[in-house]
Amino acid sequence: MSATFSRPVYCEIDLAAIASNLRLARQIVGERTQIMAVVKANAYGHGALEVARTALAAGAEWLGVAFVEEGLALRQAGISAPILVLGWTPAEDAPRAIAGDLHLALYDIGLARAYAGLARQQGRQAQVHLKIDTGMGRLGVLAGEAAEFARVVAGLEGLAIRGVFTHFSTADSADSGYTLQQLGVFLETLAALETILPRSQRIAHAANSAAALALPPARLDMVRLGIAMYGLHPSDEVRCPPGFEPALAWKAALAQVKTLPAGHPVSYGNTYVTRQEEKIGVIPVGYADGFRRGAANEVLIGGKRLPVIGRVCMDQSMVSLSGLPQAAMGDEVVLIGRQGEQAITAEEMARRWGTINYEVTSGIMARVPRRYTNRP
Ligand SMILES: *Cc1c(COP(=O)(O)O)cnc(C)c1O
Repeated sequence: MSATFSRPVYCEIDLAAIASNLRLARQIVGERTQIMAVVKANAYGHGALEVARTALAAGAEWLGVAFVEEGLALRQAGISAPILVLGWTPAEDAPRAIAGDLHLALYDIGLARAYAGLARQQGRQAQVHLKIDTGMGRLGVLAGEAAEFARVVAGLEGLAIRGVFTHFSTADSADSGYTLQQLGVFLETLAALETILPRSQRIAHAANSAAALALPPARLDMVRLGIAMYGLHPSDEVRCPPGFEPALAWKAALAQVKTLPAGHPVSYGNTYVTRQEEKIGVIPVGYADGFRRGAANEVLIGGKRLPVIGRVCMDQSMVSLSGLPQAAMGDEVVLIGRQGEQAITAEEMARRWGTINYEVTSGIMARVPRRYTNRP
């Protein structure tokens, strides 16, 4: 789909908010800690390229992506900043990653040998960051095996260790006990690696947004900033400080406005039936846009909060306009964002859907065009 296609449902991304959030994060972590702007999953739905450019211009040093293709898309757009692939890079994807100068997460000796061999074939070095599992049980070498792993990897020609990192499982909890425990394990691991991999030769990084904001000792050489850069709270317990602004609004326009007689069903399954004459609106957004079915959704129209009625369809939904006699075709509908005095946040939508804000914005589908405002 072309980048500039137009639809009466779209996301509006405030790039000045991204830049301002990044600068606030910089003030919090200080000048000596680098910032990796995490732009995986199309920048949590905000648009990877636009966010990457904005974040780099606002002072981020690194970019983080989930897989090779995400990194290469940024390279092809001319971005030269260091990019780390946080997830698994299978050997078959490694040649393109190495040629594209992407740094790779490394946690397996077989992969290390494969990357090294493929890099030698190109006359280059594969740049890797050792991923240590300090207690999350996701990707990574167990901390107790890290020193031996690093010793073998360090001996491979064609491979250059640029970093060592870990990831926290509960940094977004008010209780920092387990995060501090993981940090302790990570610091011990770094000490055990010191002879093989002196600190002057690598960067160490551990903190996601929550840890970057709430746990100063976890900031180390670099923080990996995702959710907070978008102005979204890491959790109810670890919130962005005042000043952070959500960058994404999700909007649509009314496709039809009409008055139904009493006893008239609305949408599939006739689960909603008008009790009296009722004005309703049709919104051109549905579950194939990422607007979820089976939840008590609300939207803003004319500065009022109104209920979505009946089932959300694939491409359309209906809203009760009882409170809004003046509503007309083309009127703005806000799914996420502000309208007049009212606001619906990604966090509110997440509560409604029994999930987290991360899943809400990254779940807005590619067929919803992104429009950029306030380009700094
Ligand atoms: C996604 C991700 C991040 C960013 O996390 P936020 O909570 O969005 O700040 C950091 N590190 C890794 C390894 C990740 O996968």
